[in-house]
Amino acid sequence: MKHENEHNHHNFAELLRSNGLKATPHRLRVLNEITQKDAAISQPDLEKKLGKEIDRVTLYRILASFEEKGLVHKIFDLNGTATYAICSDHCSENHHHDQHVHFICSVCNSVYCLAEITVPKVSLPTNFTLHSIAINAVGLCANCQKKV
Ligand SMILES: [Zn+2]
Ligand SMILES: [Zn+2]
Ligand SMILES: [Zn+2]
Repeated sequence: MKHENEHNHHNFAELLRSNGLKATPHRLRVLNEITQKDAAISQPDLEKKLGKEIDRVTLYRILASFEEKGLVHKIFDLNGTATYAICSDHCSENHHHDQHVHFICSVCNSVYCLAEITVPKVSLPTNFTLHSIAINAVGLCANCQKKV
């Protein structure tokens, strides 16, 4: 959340190029949509917003390339739906540093990065391989709090 303003002022084309991606109109469009709100955006919401301009397969490929190149990270919301948040740290290709806790609102299902709260180190039994750690704090977001 803290880095949101920085990203709004970012030159998206430059951001794409510095992550090894050509700044195509579709990629710029998707990146712009992902950074519209403080909260992460779900794949279905992106489809709804961009469906007329970008077909599903293309959108899927763009999101996969963003994730691979370290531009966005994926969080699963309370329904198990994939949501995407812009990477706040200096993530690079196949190397994400977004090991932070996410806040999920139990009313509106919005997902927020709590970039300051890092997940603990997990030591695994022999021959176990760690792929990711997901820790979610669940509660009421500020918007829903107002409506109570
Ligand atoms: Zn990342
Ligand atoms: Zn909410
Ligand atoms: Zn995050």
